[in-house]
Amino acid sequence: MAQYDLIIIGAGPAGMTAAIYGARADMNVLMLDKLAPGGQIINTNEIQNYTGVGTVNGAELAYQMFEHTQQFDTITFDYATVKEVIDNGKEKLVRCEEDDKEFTASSVILATGTRPRCLHVTGEDKFRGNGISWCAICDGAQYRDKDVVVIGGGNSAVEESIFLAGIVKSLTIVTMFDLTADPIACDKLRAMDKVSIYPYQDILEFIGDTRLEGVRFRSTKTGEEKTVSCDGVFEYIGLTPTTECFKDLGVLNQMGYVEVNDRMASKVPGIFAAGDCITKNLRQVITACADGAIAAQEASHYVQNL
Ligand SMILES: Cc1cc2nc3c(=O)[nH]c(=O)nc-3n(C[C@H](O)[C@H](O)[C@H](O)COP(=O)(O)OP(=O)(O)OC[C@H]3O[C@@H](n4cnc5c(N)ncnc54)[C@H](O)[C@@H]3O)c2cc1C
Repeated sequence: MAQYDLIIIGAGPAGMTAAIYGARADMNVLMLDKLAPGGQIINTNEIQNYTGVGTVNGAELAYQMFEHTQQFDTITFDYATVKEVIDNGKEKLVRCEEDDKEFTASSVILATGTRPRCLHVTGEDKFRGNGISWCAICDGAQYRDKDVVVIGGGNSAVEESIFLAGIVKSLTIVTMFDLTADPIACDKLRAMDKVSIYPYQDILEFIGDTRLEGVRFRSTKTGEEKTVSCDGVFEYIGLTPTTECFKDLGVLNQMGYVEVNDRMASKVPGIFAAGDCITKNLRQVITACADGAIAAQEASHYVQNL
């Protein structure tokens, strides 16, 4: 069985940055991901707020980050879905769903990010992937010149709405509160043609027989109900940590996020975490990368002192 100084689970911005810092600290690094390297940014049309880069296409940034990791021959990337991490003291065992894949390392960084949250209202399961989507960059093109509803009012909802408004016939944004994204992005969206915004609404139901036909919602202020006809819906209502495979390590809080200190160390010696899967206030590419750098630096100190 291959033995590494550091195994990184998740090859998003946090994991890839951790790999680079790990390699630069002379560690033998294995980076695992169940999907192509890049994480959530692969499915994001425009990445904003990454210093020095301006606006960049998410897939392009993911590619550049992965290329950067490949400049080090001490970084190995492998496709694997991790199902369990076992702490055997100085040795950590990483078990994957793929039968033949088990790896050991002196240290592990958990960088598995988050996935989109669902509403769990009537009709959501029926139209999941067939009228309701969580990824505008993946599915937006099929709604060219059609009527679309976006649910949510945070940064992701507003940024993806700006992207969709350039494609669709009409865009209706329905959100539980008011728009809470960056003011510049909110102003840009509000100024766009074909955009209507309904703040302070509860989604009641997705309507349709064989295909999605509309969304019914109710004002939390007046109780008034409204139905908007549409061909497609995109949900951006928050995130859930992708950390189920770490539950037996005892490092998760009640919400499922990994609890770490300011050095990205969990309470289990040799287990670190970085990026969107940890408890934090700002989930962005730049903060994920920063966490990854700190986690790898700390992992290197830990391994040197074993
Ligand atoms: C629509 C949208 C727009 C956004 N726009 C911006 C923006 O403009 N600017 C910005 O700075 N940020 C933006 N973000 C946020 C940004 O994408 C995240 O903060 C960032 O990707 C977090 O990086 P990460 O490495 O922590 O996690 P992720 O990017 O989520 O990567 C986690 C990786 O772990 C892998 N993984 C999960 N579980 C397992 C497992 N069991 N085994 C193996 N691999 C696993 C996943 O496949 C994934 O590749 C946006 C996010 C979304 C959803």
